[in-house]
Amino acid sequence: MLLEVRDLHVEFRTRDGVAKAVDGVDCAVDAGETLAVLGESGSGKSVTAQAVMGILDTPPGRITGGEVLFRGRDLLKLKEEERRRVRGAEMAMIFQDALSSLNPVLPVGDQLGEMFVVHRGMSRKAARAKAVELMDRVRIPAARERVGQYPHQFSGGMRQRIMIAMALALEPALIIADEPTTALDVTVQAQVMELLAELRREYRMGLVLITHDLGVVADVADRIAVMYAGRIVETAPVHDLYKAPAHPYTRGLLDSVPRLDLKGRELRAIKGLPPNLTAVPPGCAFHPRCPLARDVCRTDVPPLYEVTGTDAARGSACHFWRECLDG
Ligand code: SF4
Ligand code: MG
Repeated sequence: MLLEVRDLHVEFRTRDGVAKAVDGVDCAVDAGETLAVLGESGSGKSVTAQAVMGILDTPPGRITGGEVLFRGRDLLKLKEEERRRVRGAEMAMIFQDALSSLNPVLPVGDQLGEMFVVHRGMSRKAARAKAVELMDRVRIPAARERVGQYPHQFSGGMRQRIMIAMALALEPALIIADEPTTALDVTVQAQVMELLAELRREYRMGLVLITHDLGVVADVADRIAVMYAGRIVETAPVHDLYKAPAHPYTRGLLDSVPRLDLKGRELRAIKGLPPNLTAVPPGCAFHPRCPLARDVCRTDVPPLYEVTGTDAARGSACHFWRECLDG
């Protein structure tokens, strides 16, 4: 397994007390595989990614337990210097907002080239040639002419391609993309997603796609992990989850997005809001919003049950997953 996260816990100190942002997350992704992590904002998906990347080691956020095994090594036990080496060279991250991640006063080619100068000891000239090659790779037209341009001279979609190029530069084994297309319009979103999927295949990388938008990942992900209040509440191959969710929260998410295969269906938003993480409801954290909730849900935290009776490996943290699955 390329990446295996085991029982990860992350806490944040806030004015209102300790927020359990990540509360016992297990997940895994293999080489050549795409895992989508889906959840509303505040569900813990970005924090999980940051903990995996090792960019969360500063207060107020703190990893309080678990393991992050990357090619069998627990990254949480590495020294910061080793950690830095892994980051960038072996795993890379793509963020939502390319404009604030790129340096506005440096030509994109220099920013791309910097990766090779710093990590590979290349000359500026050789690094520039590498930058052009990378821009070609992510299909930026006229790369040779544009390599000297500044970030603001590119469209949002092209800037996101530059971010992808930057992440790809050292050919990492794993890329984590946090809402990589959220700032883009729908057509460009699809193109960027397609590009990511293609590069993932070409480089045989593991890809973790973090998103609040189920529609965006449907075509490119192999598996989905749905997060709610710092936990994974459902995990399944994407098509199985679409066909028949085994958790009421997932069902709620599916009912709230338009789908081509279910035309004429009424869209329904999930009532209520996700909980404040300093005061997560007892029992199942989703119970105040759940149409299937009953007494046991208010007292007993559901473990991630194995969903049986399907061919695929699936899990659901719902006491009544069978009922949910049967629709
Ligand atoms: Fe709903 Fe209960 Fe299942 Fe939680 S455990 S999702 S409250 S039915
Ligand atoms: Mg986020």
